[in-house]
Amino acid sequence: MSLIVTGSIGIDTIHTPHANAEGILGGSCAYFAAAASFHTPVRIVAAVGGDWPDEHRRMLEQFENVCLEGLETRPDSKTFAWGGRYFANMNQRETLFTELGVLDEDPPPVPDRYRDSEYVFLANTHPAVQSGLLADFPNRKLGVADTMDLWINIAHPELMDVLSKVDGLVLNDSEAEQLTEITNAITAARKIIELGPTFVVIKKGEHGAVLVHRDGLATIPAYPAELHRVVDPTGAGDAFAGGMMGHIAAAGMTDFPTLQTALAWGTVTASFAIESFGLDRLAQISRRDIDERMREFQAAARVG
Ligand code: AMP
Repeated sequence: MSLIVTGSIGIDTIHTPHANAEGILGGSCAYFAAAASFHTPVRIVAAVGGDWPDEHRRMLEQFENVCLEGLETRPDSKTFAWGGRYFANMNQRETLFTELGVLDEDPPPVPDRYRDSEYVFLANTHPAVQSGLLADFPNRKLGVADTMDLWINIAHPELMDVLSKVDGLVLNDSEAEQLTEITNAITAARKIIELGPTFVVIKKGEHGAVLVHRDGLATIPAYPAELHRVVDPTGAGDAFAGGMMGHIAAAGMTDFPTLQTALAWGTVTASFAIESFGLDRLAQISRRDIDERMREFQAAARVG
């Protein structure tokens, strides 16, 4: 049931109201893969430049279930770099800089050994690269994409092409509004479904997420994290998607009830990612910690 992901490997600089971190490992692909690896083996297709620090590689290597064979190093290029600053509520942020580096070059090649991948996740990167990876897996069981404001702004036609081909889209509420000009998340999701996908997951930060599917609708609260535990929300969306897709690939099913359960695994996995800068917290925990928090979450979120 192999899961494959393409996206960014980033060198992040992050400012929160309480602390700063400079030059740490980030990127949509890194967070996704680390989170998914608690649920199933995951293969990375991504590129970094000659400036990528060895310690970032060592950090990724700590996640045993992450296969790095598809991680290409381009000695003469620069790694994608991103900076962000969080506002006082830790829920909203502004982007300080985006240096595309390798994300503006040719897509990384897919190793032959990855050809049997069945579950394809297109984490945040240029939509043209996302389309390329989809085309490499015509017999996939499921293809799901993420996107964000930059790509909605600068690569709209390519993003529309991705939407016409994927089974699912995961994005946050402000991005859904930007894409559809509709403020209501459910209505926005239905509009996106008209563009191609079978389902849309809209994340609402500390207010949880909704799944709008051609077969039904599901809502899930966020994990109730106390403020002092929220160190750095960066990568929460990618870790959510990693937990979700990891569960789906491990289950080997793509029906509505499986997707609904996957939302809970995504929520619980992401709740660890925000407890540190970068991947530090995810690198400390084991599957047992995730299972334990899942039980707590089920008890806290029970309806009726
Ligand atoms: P999230 O907080 O889930 O939105 O993900 C943040 C991560 O995405 C950071 O580690 C960044 O390195 C990475 N990132 C930021 N902007 C982009 C972009 N335009 N394309 C790909 N990755 C990005």
